Amino acid sequence: MSAQHSFDLVLRGGRIIDPANGVDAVGDLAIADGRIAALAPRVPDGAADRIIDVSGKLVVPGLIDTHAHVFEHVTGRFGLNPDMVGVRSGVSTLVDQGGPSLMTLPAFRRFIAEPARSRTLCFLSAYLVGGLEGHYYPQLYRPDCVDVDATIRAGLANRDLVRGIKAHCEMGGASRWGLEVMKLAKRIAAGIGVPLYVHLGRLWPDAEGGRAVDPDLLVEELIPILEPGDILAHPFTRHPGGFISTRTGEVHPVIHRALERGLTVDVGHGSHFSFEMARRTLAAGIRPHTLGADLHGYNVKAPGGDADPDRAGNPFFGVAPFSLTHAMTELLALGVPLAEVLATVTANPARMLGMAGEIGALAPGMVADVAVLDLRPGAWRLSDNSGETVEAAHMVVPEFSLRAGVPVAVDSPLLPAPVPAAA
Ligand SMILES: [Zn+2]
Repeated sequence: MSAQHSFDLVLRGGRIIDPANGVDAVGDLAIADGRIAALAPRVPDGAADRIIDVSGKLVVPGLIDTHAHVFEHVTGRFGLNPDMVGVRSGVSTLVDQGGPSLMTLPAFRRFIAEPARSRTLCFLSAYLVGGLEGHYYPQLYRPDCVDVDATIRAGLANRDLVRGIKAHCEMGGASRWGLEVMKLAKRIAAGIGVPLYVHLGRLWPDAEGGRAVDPDLLVEELIPILEPGDILAHPFTRHPGGFISTRTGEVHPVIHRALERGLTVDVGHGSHFSFEMARRTLAAGIRPHTLGADLHGYNVKAPGGDADPDRAGNPFFGVAPFSLTHAMTELLALGVPLAEVLATVTANPARMLGMAGEIGALAPGMVADVAVLDLRPGAWRLSDNSGETVEAAHMVVPEFSLRAGVPVAVDSPLLPAPVPAAA
Protein backbone atom coordinates (compact mmCIF):
# COMPACT_ATOMS: atom_id res chain seq x y z
CA MET A 1 0.00 0.00 0.00
CA SER A 2 1.13 3.58 -0.52
CA ALA A 3 2.11 5.76 2.43
CA GLN A 4 -1.13 7.75 2.54
CA HIS A 5 -3.49 4.74 2.29
CA SER A 6 -4.43 2.23 4.98
CA PHE A 7 -5.37 -0.54 2.52
CA ASP A 8 -4.08 -1.94 -0.77
CA LEU A 9 -7.48 -3.01 -1.99
CA VAL A 10 -11.12 -2.81 -0.99
CA LEU A 11 -13.86 -5.06 -2.36
CA ARG A 12 -16.80 -2.69 -2.12
CA GLY A 13 -20.42 -3.41 -1.37
CA GLY A 14 -20.60 -7.19 -1.81
CA ARG A 15 -22.56 -9.67 0.27
CA ILE A 16 -19.82 -10.97 2.57
CA ILE A 17 -20.49 -14.52 3.76
CA ASP A 18 -18.04 -16.21 6.13
CA PRO A 19 -19.53 -19.45 7.51
CA ALA A 20 -16.66 -19.93 10.00
CA ASN A 21 -17.61 -16.72 11.80
CA GLY A 22 -21.35 -16.64 11.08
CA VAL A 23 -21.00 -13.50 8.94
CA ASP A 24 -23.60 -12.71 6.25
CA ALA A 25 -23.74 -8.94 5.64
CA VAL A 26 -23.41 -6.39 2.85
CA GLY A 27 -20.25 -4.32 3.22
CA ASP A 28 -16.61 -3.71 2.30
CA LEU A 29 -13.70 -6.10 2.66
CA ALA A 30 -10.33 -4.39 3.02
CA ILE A 31 -6.96 -5.99 2.22
CA ALA A 32 -3.46 -4.91 3.28
CA ASP A 33 -0.13 -6.67 2.76
CA GLY A 34 -1.83 -9.80 1.39
CA ARG A 35 -4.01 -10.23 4.46
CA ILE A 36 -7.58 -9.45 5.46
CA ALA A 37 -7.39 -6.04 7.19
CA ALA A 38 -11.02 -5.17 7.95
CA LEU A 39 -14.69 -5.93 7.32
CA ALA A 40 -16.80 -2.79 7.57
CA PRO A 41 -20.15 -1.46 6.35
CA ARG A 42 -18.23 1.21 4.40
CA VAL A 43 -14.51 1.96 4.12
CA PRO A 44 -13.81 5.66 3.26
CA ASP A 45 -12.93 6.25 -0.42
CA GLY A 46 -9.52 7.66 0.38
CA ALA A 47 -8.44 4.74 2.52
CA ALA A 48 -7.42 2.37 -0.31
CA ASP A 49 -5.08 2.33 -3.31
CA ARG A 50 -7.71 0.46 -5.29
CA ILE A 51 -11.44 -0.15 -4.93
CA ILE A 52 -13.30 -2.86 -6.86
CA ASP A 53 -17.10 -2.59 -6.88
CA VAL A 54 -18.55 -6.03 -6.19
CA SER A 55 -22.11 -4.96 -5.35
CA GLY A 56 -24.60 -7.72 -6.04
CA LYS A 57 -21.86 -10.39 -5.76
CA LEU A 58 -20.96 -12.84 -3.02
CA VAL A 59 -17.62 -12.25 -1.29
CA VAL A 60 -16.51 -15.47 0.43
CA PRO A 61 -13.31 -17.06 1.74
CA GLY A 62 -11.04 -18.43 -1.01
CA LEU A 63 -12.52 -21.73 -2.20
CA ILE A 64 -10.75 -24.94 -1.19
CA ASP A 65 -11.01 -27.98 -3.48
CA THR A 66 -10.38 -31.06 -1.32
CA HIS A 67 -10.11 -33.46 -4.25
CA ALA A 68 -7.97 -32.42 -7.20
CA HIS A 69 -5.66 -34.27 -9.61
CA VAL A 70 -3.02 -31.79 -10.68
CA PHE A 71 0.25 -33.77 -10.75
CA GLU A 72 0.62 -32.68 -14.35
CA HIS A 73 3.02 -34.66 -16.63
CA VAL A 74 3.96 -37.18 -13.90
CA THR A 75 0.58 -38.92 -13.53
CA GLY A 76 0.19 -39.21 -17.30
CA ARG A 77 -3.03 -37.97 -18.89
CA PHE A 78 -4.70 -38.00 -15.46
CA GLY A 79 -3.11 -34.84 -14.04
CA LEU A 80 -4.46 -31.43 -15.03
CA ASN A 81 -2.72 -28.06 -14.83
CA PRO A 82 -3.02 -26.81 -11.23
CA ASP A 83 -3.96 -23.21 -12.00
CA MET A 84 -6.53 -24.29 -14.60
CA VAL A 85 -8.30 -26.21 -11.81
CA GLY A 86 -7.30 -23.65 -9.17
CA VAL A 87 -7.21 -19.86 -9.33
CA ARG A 88 -8.29 -19.65 -12.98
CA SER A 89 -11.46 -21.55 -11.95
CA GLY A 90 -12.00 -19.30 -8.91
CA VAL A 91 -10.39 -21.79 -6.47
CA SER A 92 -7.55 -20.66 -4.16
CA THR A 93 -6.42 -23.93 -2.60
CA LEU A 94 -6.11 -27.40 -4.14
CA VAL A 95 -5.57 -30.74 -2.44
CA ASP A 96 -4.16 -33.31 -4.85
CA GLN A 97 -5.71 -36.60 -3.76
CA GLY A 98 -3.10 -39.32 -3.94
CA GLY A 99 -1.14 -38.18 -6.99
CA PRO A 100 2.27 -37.84 -5.33
CA SER A 101 3.87 -40.72 -3.42
CA LEU A 102 6.95 -40.86 -1.23
CA MET A 103 8.97 -41.38 -4.44
CA THR A 104 7.51 -38.49 -6.45
CA LEU A 105 6.82 -35.96 -3.68
CA PRO A 106 10.01 -33.96 -4.38
CA ALA A 107 8.85 -33.51 -8.00
CA PHE A 108 5.39 -32.48 -6.79
CA ARG A 109 6.97 -29.79 -4.62
CA ARG A 110 9.43 -28.51 -7.22
CA PHE A 111 7.32 -28.63 -10.38
CA ILE A 112 3.72 -28.27 -9.12
CA ALA A 113 3.36 -26.72 -5.65
CA GLU A 114 6.15 -24.12 -5.97
CA PRO A 115 5.34 -22.65 -9.40
CA ALA A 116 1.52 -22.78 -9.07
CA ARG A 117 -0.31 -19.55 -8.20
CA SER A 118 -2.91 -21.72 -6.48
CA ARG A 119 -1.97 -22.98 -3.01
CA THR A 120 -1.33 -26.64 -3.82
CA LEU A 121 -1.24 -29.28 -1.08
CA CYS A 122 -1.69 -33.03 -1.12
CA PHE A 123 -2.98 -36.14 0.52
CA LEU A 124 0.04 -38.36 -0.05
CA SER A 125 -0.59 -41.67 -1.80
CA ALA A 126 -0.34 -44.71 0.47
CA TYR A 127 1.23 -46.58 -2.47
CA LEU A 128 4.85 -46.40 -3.64
CA VAL A 129 3.92 -45.29 -7.15
CA GLY A 130 1.16 -42.78 -6.35
CA GLY A 131 -1.68 -42.10 -8.76
CA LEU A 132 0.09 -42.91 -12.02
CA GLU A 133 -2.37 -42.93 -14.94
CA GLY A 134 -5.20 -42.56 -12.43
CA HIS A 135 -4.51 -45.92 -10.72
CA TYR A 136 -5.18 -47.68 -14.03
CA TYR A 137 -2.97 -50.74 -13.34
CA PRO A 138 -4.26 -52.57 -10.24
CA GLN A 139 -1.13 -54.70 -9.76
CA LEU A 140 0.78 -51.55 -8.73
CA TYR A 141 -1.50 -51.12 -5.68
CA ARG A 142 -1.13 -54.45 -3.89
CA PRO A 143 0.04 -54.62 -0.26
CA ASP A 144 3.69 -55.30 -1.08
CA CYS A 145 3.71 -52.06 -3.11
CA VAL A 146 3.26 -50.09 0.14
CA ASP A 147 6.16 -49.11 2.41
CA VAL A 148 4.67 -47.91 5.70
CA ASP A 149 7.84 -46.65 7.40
CA ALA A 150 9.29 -44.86 4.36
CA THR A 151 5.95 -43.16 3.65
CA ILE A 152 5.66 -41.98 7.25
CA ARG A 153 9.18 -40.52 7.01
CA ALA A 154 8.32 -38.71 3.76
CA GLY A 155 5.11 -37.34 5.26
CA LEU A 156 6.77 -36.10 8.45
CA ALA A 157 9.55 -34.42 6.46
CA ASN A 158 7.00 -32.59 4.27
CA ARG A 159 4.20 -31.65 6.66
CA ASP A 160 3.76 -28.26 4.96
CA LEU A 161 2.45 -30.06 1.87
CA VAL A 162 1.24 -33.41 3.21
CA ARG A 163 -2.14 -32.93 4.93
CA GLY A 164 -3.40 -36.51 4.80
CA ILE A 165 -3.09 -39.96 3.22
CA LYS A 166 -5.13 -41.31 0.29
CA ALA A 167 -6.14 -44.94 -0.32
CA HIS A 168 -8.98 -46.90 -1.95
CA CYS A 169 -11.50 -49.31 -0.49
CA GLU A 170 -13.38 -50.96 -3.33
CA MET A 171 -14.31 -54.36 -4.64
CA GLY A 172 -11.64 -54.87 -7.31
CA GLY A 173 -8.79 -54.43 -4.83
CA ALA A 174 -10.61 -56.35 -2.09
CA SER A 175 -11.14 -59.28 -4.47
CA ARG A 176 -7.35 -59.47 -4.80
CA TRP A 177 -5.97 -58.67 -1.35
CA GLY A 178 -8.87 -57.95 1.00
CA LEU A 179 -8.49 -54.85 3.17
CA GLU A 180 -4.77 -55.27 3.87
CA VAL A 181 -3.87 -52.06 2.01
CA MET A 182 -6.41 -50.09 4.08
CA LYS A 183 -4.79 -51.28 7.30
CA LEU A 184 -1.34 -50.26 6.04
CA ALA A 185 -2.68 -46.87 4.90
CA LYS A 186 -4.20 -46.30 8.35
CA ARG A 187 -0.82 -47.05 9.97
CA ILE A 188 0.80 -44.47 7.69
CA ALA A 189 -1.80 -41.79 8.47
CA ALA A 190 -1.56 -42.45 12.22
CA GLY A 191 2.25 -42.39 12.06
CA ILE A 192 2.20 -38.91 10.50
CA GLY A 193 -0.77 -37.72 12.56
CA VAL A 194 -3.01 -36.83 9.61
CA PRO A 195 -6.43 -38.06 8.40
CA LEU A 196 -6.95 -40.93 5.96
CA TYR A 197 -9.09 -40.22 2.87
CA VAL A 198 -10.85 -43.32 1.61
CA HIS A 199 -12.19 -43.69 -1.92
CA LEU A 200 -15.44 -45.73 -1.96
CA GLY A 201 -17.06 -47.23 -5.04
CA ARG A 202 -15.66 -49.56 -7.68
CA LEU A 203 -12.33 -48.58 -9.21
CA TRP A 204 -10.81 -51.82 -10.53
CA PRO A 205 -12.55 -54.84 -12.13
CA ASP A 206 -12.70 -58.00 -9.99
CA ALA A 207 -9.62 -60.23 -10.18
CA GLU A 208 -10.07 -63.17 -12.49
CA GLY A 209 -10.68 -66.15 -10.24
CA GLY A 210 -10.58 -63.84 -7.18
CA ARG A 211 -13.21 -63.98 -4.47
CA ALA A 212 -16.42 -62.06 -5.24
CA VAL A 213 -16.79 -59.19 -2.79
CA ASP A 214 -20.13 -58.10 -1.34
CA PRO A 215 -19.99 -54.26 -1.36
CA ASP A 216 -22.14 -54.00 1.79
CA LEU A 217 -19.86 -56.33 3.76
CA LEU A 218 -16.81 -54.45 2.48
CA VAL A 219 -18.08 -51.18 4.00
CA GLU A 220 -18.85 -52.98 7.28
CA GLU A 221 -15.31 -54.34 7.38
CA LEU A 222 -13.77 -50.95 6.57
CA ILE A 223 -15.40 -48.71 9.17
CA PRO A 224 -13.76 -50.24 12.30
CA ILE A 225 -10.33 -49.58 10.74
CA LEU A 226 -11.03 -45.83 10.60
CA GLU A 227 -10.93 -43.14 13.30
CA PRO A 228 -12.66 -39.79 13.89
CA GLY A 229 -11.46 -37.23 11.33
CA ASP A 230 -10.91 -39.84 8.62
CA ILE A 231 -12.81 -39.11 5.43
CA LEU A 232 -15.23 -41.24 3.44
CA ALA A 233 -15.32 -40.12 -0.21
CA HIS A 234 -17.81 -40.40 -3.04
CA PRO A 235 -21.02 -40.80 -0.96
CA PHE A 236 -23.12 -40.02 -4.04
CA THR A 237 -21.37 -42.53 -6.31
CA ARG A 238 -23.42 -44.34 -8.93
CA HIS A 239 -21.01 -47.29 -8.53
CA PRO A 240 -21.72 -50.01 -5.93
CA GLY A 241 -19.73 -49.94 -2.70
CA GLY A 242 -20.65 -46.39 -1.62
CA PHE A 243 -23.09 -45.22 1.05
CA ILE A 244 -26.19 -46.78 -0.50
CA SER A 245 -26.66 -50.45 0.37
CA THR A 246 -27.04 -52.68 -2.68
CA ARG A 247 -29.50 -54.76 -0.64
CA THR A 248 -31.91 -52.08 0.58
CA GLY A 249 -31.30 -49.12 -1.75
CA GLU A 250 -30.92 -46.96 1.37
CA VAL A 251 -27.95 -45.61 3.31
CA HIS A 252 -26.07 -48.49 4.94
CA PRO A 253 -26.66 -48.37 8.75
CA VAL A 254 -22.91 -48.68 9.39
CA ILE A 255 -22.44 -45.29 7.68
CA HIS A 256 -24.74 -43.56 10.17
CA ARG A 257 -22.78 -45.10 13.04
CA ALA A 258 -19.48 -44.05 11.45
CA LEU A 259 -20.59 -40.42 11.15
CA GLU A 260 -21.81 -40.40 14.75
CA ARG A 261 -18.30 -41.54 15.67
CA GLY A 262 -16.76 -38.49 13.96
CA LEU A 263 -15.82 -39.72 10.49
CA THR A 264 -16.47 -37.09 7.82
CA VAL A 265 -17.78 -37.09 4.25
CA ASP A 266 -16.25 -35.60 1.09
CA VAL A 267 -18.41 -35.51 -2.06
CA GLY A 268 -15.47 -36.09 -4.44
CA HIS A 269 -17.74 -35.17 -7.35
CA GLY A 270 -15.89 -36.40 -10.46
CA SER A 271 -17.82 -38.68 -12.72
CA HIS A 272 -19.16 -40.58 -9.70
CA PHE A 273 -21.87 -38.05 -8.89
CA SER A 274 -25.49 -39.21 -9.20
CA PHE A 275 -28.45 -36.93 -8.36
CA GLU A 276 -30.52 -39.97 -7.36
CA MET A 277 -27.90 -41.28 -4.91
CA ALA A 278 -27.37 -37.73 -3.60
CA ARG A 279 -31.10 -37.29 -2.92
CA ARG A 280 -31.28 -40.62 -1.05
CA THR A 281 -28.22 -39.78 1.02
CA LEU A 282 -29.38 -36.24 1.87
CA ALA A 283 -32.88 -37.53 2.68
CA ALA A 284 -31.27 -39.85 5.23
CA GLY A 285 -29.98 -36.73 7.03
CA ILE A 286 -26.37 -37.00 5.85
CA ARG A 287 -24.65 -33.73 4.87
CA PRO A 288 -21.24 -33.70 3.22
CA HIS A 289 -18.59 -31.88 5.27
CA THR A 290 -16.45 -31.06 2.24
CA LEU A 291 -17.15 -30.92 -1.49
CA GLY A 292 -14.14 -31.73 -3.70
CA ALA A 293 -14.54 -31.49 -7.50
CA ASP A 294 -12.37 -34.53 -8.43
CA LEU A 295 -11.53 -33.12 -11.85
CA HIS A 296 -8.93 -35.07 -13.82
CA GLY A 297 -7.77 -35.67 -17.36
CA TYR A 298 -10.16 -38.56 -17.95
CA ASN A 299 -13.33 -36.72 -16.98
CA VAL A 300 -12.77 -33.34 -18.57
CA LYS A 301 -11.52 -32.40 -21.98
CA ALA A 302 -8.28 -30.62 -21.22
CA PRO A 303 -7.16 -28.09 -23.83
CA GLY A 304 -4.95 -29.76 -26.40
CA GLY A 305 -6.35 -33.22 -25.73
CA ASP A 306 -9.62 -35.06 -25.53
CA ALA A 307 -10.84 -37.19 -22.64
CA ASP A 308 -9.03 -40.38 -23.55
CA PRO A 309 -11.19 -42.98 -25.35
CA ASP A 310 -8.64 -45.71 -24.43
CA ARG A 311 -9.80 -45.28 -20.86
CA ALA A 312 -13.53 -45.68 -21.61
CA GLY A 313 -13.55 -48.92 -19.58
CA ASN A 314 -12.34 -47.04 -16.50
CA PRO A 315 -15.27 -46.18 -14.24
CA PHE A 316 -13.78 -42.68 -13.75
CA PHE A 317 -14.46 -41.98 -17.40
CA GLY A 318 -17.00 -39.29 -18.22
CA VAL A 319 -17.01 -36.12 -20.27
CA ALA A 320 -19.67 -33.78 -18.84
CA PRO A 321 -17.78 -30.57 -17.98
CA PHE A 322 -17.90 -29.40 -14.39
CA SER A 323 -15.97 -27.45 -11.79
CA LEU A 324 -15.98 -26.89 -8.03
CA THR A 325 -18.47 -24.02 -8.42
CA HIS A 326 -20.63 -26.23 -10.64
CA ALA A 327 -20.66 -28.85 -7.87
CA MET A 328 -21.76 -26.04 -5.50
CA THR A 329 -24.65 -25.25 -7.88
CA GLU A 330 -25.69 -28.92 -7.72
CA LEU A 331 -25.72 -29.02 -3.91
CA LEU A 332 -27.87 -25.86 -3.90
CA ALA A 333 -30.26 -27.43 -6.43
CA LEU A 334 -30.52 -30.47 -4.13
CA GLY A 335 -31.74 -28.19 -1.34
CA VAL A 336 -28.59 -27.72 0.75
CA PRO A 337 -28.69 -24.13 2.15
CA LEU A 338 -26.19 -21.60 0.75
CA ALA A 339 -24.25 -21.15 4.01
CA GLU A 340 -23.79 -24.93 4.30
CA VAL A 341 -22.69 -25.23 0.68
CA LEU A 342 -20.13 -22.46 1.27
CA ALA A 343 -18.90 -24.19 4.43
CA THR A 344 -18.07 -27.32 2.36
CA VAL A 345 -15.53 -25.31 0.36
CA THR A 346 -14.21 -22.95 3.07
CA ALA A 347 -14.44 -23.54 6.83
CA ASN A 348 -14.82 -27.34 6.80
CA PRO A 349 -11.91 -28.13 4.46
CA ALA A 350 -9.69 -25.67 6.34
CA ARG A 351 -10.33 -27.75 9.47
CA MET A 352 -9.71 -31.01 7.57
CA LEU A 353 -6.33 -29.62 6.45
CA GLY A 354 -5.42 -28.44 9.95
CA MET A 355 -5.31 -24.85 8.62
CA ALA A 356 -8.41 -23.28 10.20
CA GLY A 357 -6.32 -20.36 11.54
CA GLU A 358 -4.85 -19.54 8.13
CA ILE A 359 -7.44 -20.11 5.38
CA GLY A 360 -11.16 -20.78 4.96
CA ALA A 361 -12.42 -17.63 6.75
CA LEU A 362 -12.34 -13.83 6.38
CA ALA A 363 -11.17 -12.74 9.82
CA PRO A 364 -8.68 -9.86 10.03
CA GLY A 365 -5.11 -11.16 9.97
CA MET A 366 -5.84 -14.19 7.83
CA VAL A 367 -4.38 -14.67 4.34
CA ALA A 368 -6.48 -12.70 1.82
CA ASP A 369 -7.61 -15.68 -0.24
CA VAL A 370 -11.05 -14.55 -1.40
CA ALA A 371 -13.59 -15.69 -4.00
CA VAL A 372 -16.03 -13.30 -5.65
CA LEU A 373 -19.01 -15.25 -6.95
CA ASP A 374 -22.14 -14.41 -8.88
CA LEU A 375 -25.21 -16.29 -7.68
CA ARG A 376 -26.97 -16.01 -11.02
CA PRO A 377 -30.75 -16.56 -10.93
CA GLY A 378 -32.46 -18.36 -13.80
CA ALA A 379 -33.60 -21.80 -14.85
CA TRP A 380 -30.41 -23.78 -15.42
CA ARG A 381 -30.15 -27.35 -16.62
CA LEU A 382 -27.79 -29.69 -14.75
CA SER A 383 -27.08 -33.27 -15.77
CA ASP A 384 -25.20 -36.20 -14.21
CA ASN A 385 -23.35 -39.19 -15.64
CA SER A 386 -26.42 -41.40 -15.30
CA GLY A 387 -28.24 -39.13 -17.78
CA GLU A 388 -30.54 -37.51 -15.21
CA THR A 389 -31.24 -33.79 -15.57
CA VAL A 390 -32.23 -31.38 -12.81
CA GLU A 391 -33.28 -27.73 -12.99
CA ALA A 392 -31.42 -25.23 -10.81
CA ALA A 393 -32.78 -21.81 -9.78
CA HIS A 394 -29.28 -20.41 -9.18
CA MET A 395 -25.94 -20.98 -10.86
CA VAL A 396 -22.74 -20.26 -8.90
CA VAL A 397 -20.46 -18.44 -11.35
CA PRO A 398 -16.95 -17.39 -10.23
CA GLU A 399 -16.09 -13.77 -11.15
CA PHE A 400 -12.50 -13.50 -9.91
CA SER A 401 -10.44 -14.55 -6.95
CA LEU A 402 -7.80 -13.02 -4.72
CA ARG A 403 -4.78 -15.15 -3.92
CA ALA A 404 -2.95 -13.60 -0.95
CA GLY A 405 -4.59 -10.29 -1.85
CA VAL A 406 -3.68 -10.32 -5.55
CA PRO A 407 -6.61 -10.42 -8.03
CA VAL A 408 -6.55 -13.37 -10.44
CA ALA A 409 -8.86 -13.54 -13.47
CA VAL A 410 -11.23 -16.48 -13.82
CA ASP A 411 -10.55 -17.67 -17.37
CA SER A 412 -10.15 -21.46 -17.10
CA PRO A 413 -11.17 -23.41 -20.21
CA LEU A 414 -12.47 -26.11 -17.85
CA LEU A 415 -15.40 -24.01 -16.58
CA PRO A 416 -18.72 -25.22 -17.99
CA ALA A 417 -20.96 -22.65 -19.69
CA PRO A 418 -24.31 -22.26 -17.86
CA VAL A 419 -27.02 -24.08 -19.84
CA PRO A 420 -30.55 -22.58 -19.66
CA ALA A 421 -33.19 -25.25 -18.99
CA ALA A 422 -35.13 -24.12 -22.07
CA ALA A 423 -32.17 -24.76 -24.41
ZN1 LIG B 1 -10.12 -38.64 -7.57
